[in-house]
Order: sequence, then C-alpha cells, then structure tokens
Amino acid sequence: MDTLKQILNQSVTQKIAGSDPFYRNQIQSAQAMNNPIPPPPPMPPPPMPPPSEEPPSVTANIKSQSYGPPSEIDTIRELNGYPDNYDFKANGLSSNPGIIVKKTPEGKPVMEKLTYKIGNTVYSKTLLPIELQRPNGKTVPSKIDAKTYESLMTLAEDFKRMTGKNLVINEVYRSPGASNMARKKKGNVVAPGGTSGHGYGTSLDINQNELVRYKMYDPKTGLLRDFIVPQWKLLAMLVREKYPDWRWLGQSKKGENQHFDYMPSYNEAPIGAARQWINKGNRVSNPGIEQYGL
Ligand SMILES: [Zn+2]
Repeated sequence: MDTLKQILNQSVTQKIAGSDPFYRNQIQSAQAMNNPIPPPPPMPPPPMPPPSEEPPSVTANIKSQSYGPPSEIDTIRELNGYPDNYDFKANGLSSNPGIIVKKTPEGKPVMEKLTYKIGNTVYSKTLLPIELQRPNGKTVPSKIDAKTYESLMTLAEDFKRMTGKNLVINEVYRSPGASNMARKKKGNVVAPGGTSGHGYGTSLDINQNELVRYKMYDPKTGLLRDFIVPQWKLLAMLVREKYPDWRWLGQSKKGENQHFDYMPSYNEAPIGAARQWINKGNRVSNPGIEQYGL
C-alpha cells in the first residue's frame, strides 16, 4: 500500500515538476543542498465539468431563491439549458414559446393588410395577427410583422430552451393613434405614433417583472449554478450574443429595458418615410386594416 502511495506521489511530483519550472528549480536546489524535497505546489484546478444534462427546475419558487443579477461580464456561451432534443411535452411543458399565430382552417397563417397614410401617400404592410400567452393562461391579441415573427420565434425558442418558460410579451403592435394617445398620457417616453417600431409590428415590449432561472458558469467561481434574473436581462444577453438583428433599447435609453426592436424590418418602408414625415411635425394614421386568408 505504502509503495503504491509513494509511486503515486512520485508520479504526481514528477508530473508537476515536469510542467512547473519553478517547482523543478526548487527540487534541484533542495537536492544540491541535501535538503528534503519540498512538497509540490497545489494541483491546478481540474477542467470545468461538462454541462449537466439535467434541465433546470421550473417548478421551484424562484422568487425566494433569487441570487441577483449576474455581472456585466457574464456570457451566455457557457449556458446550460435544455438539450436540443429535450421533449417538452413528455415533461409536461409546452414547446410553444408563447406566441400563437392565427391560422386559417387549412392551417395557413391569417394575414392583415394595414395601410398607413403618410402625407398624400398610402403605404401598406402585411402583419400576422397573433395571440400572446400570459402566465395565467390568458391570451392577448396583437399583430406582428412576418419577418419579425420568424426571427422572434427562433429567439423565443432559445429562451424557452434555456429557462423552460415562455417569453412573456406585453405588447407588439400599437397603432400610431394609440401611440399618440399614450404619449399624451405618459409624455415623451412614448415615441410619436408612426416613429416607433410598435406601429409596424417590428418592436416588442416584454414584461419587466417576470423572473427566469437558468444555469450558467459563474465567472467568479467557475462553478455551474442557477441564476435568477428578470427575463429582459436574459433576453438582452441573448440578443447581444446571438441575435445581431435585434436591438435592446435598454442599452441606449435608460428605463427602456422592456423594449426590443427587430432592425431589418424596422429600417424598411414605410418606417423611414413615416419618420421623415413626422420629424416635420406631421402625423401618420392607419386608415385601413383588412384581414384576409380566412
Ligand atoms: Zn416598446
């Protein structure tokens, strides 16, 4: 037994001495001076364990176990969410990320043609009527730009895989008229109707109070642990790391943590034309909304 231990110790000493020139020098000078060989330096920390296959618990009371927000240097790259093939249904979870598109009896998405009157020009844009699912099981109707929807589904599915939860979206489409009304009530925090992506179904506001849990390597300790943060914070990290087409407004505007823009659609007409028109002090309206595909 002792011999085995000695052999093991020796091999550890040799291994460390071989890889650590400072320790090798210590051994050599100890041998030269006929001193006992100094103990080896502490072993380097073992490599990080691979992410656990166990999905994060979504049933626990997350409010009572909140660890607070991660620091700015945290990255979602080392994040451990649900594996790609995770069977949500078998585990009592819906794989729908909380955004339901209205479908025709044939299963095709219903479409809505919205017209925008900008000066004497009438522009039209096709939006998809959707239902936003709330945690209490209720749904809220809205509309979304088709390209924005496609990108949002990928983003929301990623979010769901990481947290096991649906993205809780408060609002997507807000008509230019409704924006002007809200601006009257709340002031300049609301963009004038027609300048905001909400008016074109390309921006969304998520619920700022919703908390989510996900597993990640803690940059301070290097250990895998649960983080609990408001959903906007996780979405902001996701957008920063993986979805350059999206913009999180909280980055540039204080107090706008809930607001996300899908930039490619946002830059298309009629938004550009509307912005120029509104900047001259004019207004934009939706004179018509027509539903088709049914
Ligand atoms: Zn918004």
